[in-house]
Amino acid sequence: MNKQDFNEGFLGFLDASPTPFHAVQNMAGMFDNAGFKRLFEEQKWALEQGKKYFVVRNDSSIIAFTYPKNKNFLMVGAHTDSPNLKLKPNPLIKEHGVVKFGVESYGGLLLNSWFDRDLSLAGRISYLDANNLIKDALVDAKKSIAIIPSLAIHLDREANEKRSINAQTDICPIATTDSEFAWEVFLRELLAQSGVADAQEIYAHELSFYDTQKASFVGLKEEFIASARIDNLLSCYVGMLALCSVDEAKPMLFVANDHEEIGSQSAVGAEGSFLHSVLKRVFREHEEFEQMIRASLFVSADNAHAIHPNFPIKHDAAHAPRINGGTVIKVNANQRYASNAKTIARFCNVAASLGEVTQNFVMRSDMACGSTIGPITAAKLGIDTLDVGAPTYAMHSIRELCGSDDAHSLYKILVGLCER
Ligand code: ZN
Repeated sequence: MNKQDFNEGFLGFLDASPTPFHAVQNMAGMFDNAGFKRLFEEQKWALEQGKKYFVVRNDSSIIAFTYPKNKNFLMVGAHTDSPNLKLKPNPLIKEHGVVKFGVESYGGLLLNSWFDRDLSLAGRISYLDANNLIKDALVDAKKSIAIIPSLAIHLDREANEKRSINAQTDICPIATTDSEFAWEVFLRELLAQSGVADAQEIYAHELSFYDTQKASFVGLKEEFIASARIDNLLSCYVGMLALCSVDEAKPMLFVANDHEEIGSQSAVGAEGSFLHSVLKRVFREHEEFEQMIRASLFVSADNAHAIHPNFPIKHDAAHAPRINGGTVIKVNANQRYASNAKTIARFCNVAASLGEVTQNFVMRSDMACGSTIGPITAAKLGIDTLDVGAPTYAMHSIRELCGSDDAHSLYKILVGLCER
């Protein structure tokens, strides 16, 4: 796939995936179109060699894989979630002439980037249908329905020097001046928009705000891509397309977990049982399972911090990835990243054979290092693992920035690794 088509598709995927639920729905659709057969965890599996499969858990995590004779899998991991403002169960606050929403911070978001953005709301609603069955539906308001206005500088003269943000009181999105606004009616409208007209009772929701500004190319030569959720829908998109591009005779698996941004400890997070449980059902004999793990490689793909030209001091000068400088290999002596010399060598060998460049990232020794699903998956499965990612600015901002070369380059390397 050429870079232009690849990037256009990436922008479309970002815009169509405001929540992990929507990202997984889109990926499931893509796998379905590419000839992967859906498996359901609650049913018995009868796998046929040579076929391709995918499994979804909780609508927010997905695993897809080929099932050839060889067992030396290339596994690519990413995460479906991004930091956001999540609506509380009883969200309405009516005061000072407006109706606003109570929200919780999900993950380590850069709160200041959420002010003065045109926000919409999307997620999942569980309800009782006309036949007394509990159902759920994905919803997306799709238009700007709320905003968090900044406090004017005249009311806070020290804003540029020392404004801090209180997550309980300062970031409630304002929705309307209509004091009659009814929450239940609004939820029913959201459901109706998704084709659900028979909800007898609405029980619960998982709804998050998102920026309505579309993903776009930025820069004099469109060097950059600006969007929400680049961390980590970029890696989801890259991993998904790589798996759809490889020959089905090649062993490859793609896993995209929810809940990475809050530590991965859940039924659908990398710390949970999802990947292990799927692999155990595919490779039922203990001996076969262990041989497969030892013969396989896990590439954990999650964005990396590019050196910020206005804040270069935040990087180790010898390990300072540049935008459009190629895939970043992440290393940490304390295993916050799982890369080791052997796994790095396998990745770099393929990259070099394709003429793709790579760059190294190590956090400054006097700063705390982040982590991702790589070390967690490595520890759970005992699989050889490598942490990589596309260089990114403004990680966890409502609008992040990556290069228009790097995702495509990572995609080519992953396909090459699988077809080695
Ligand atoms: Zn991430």
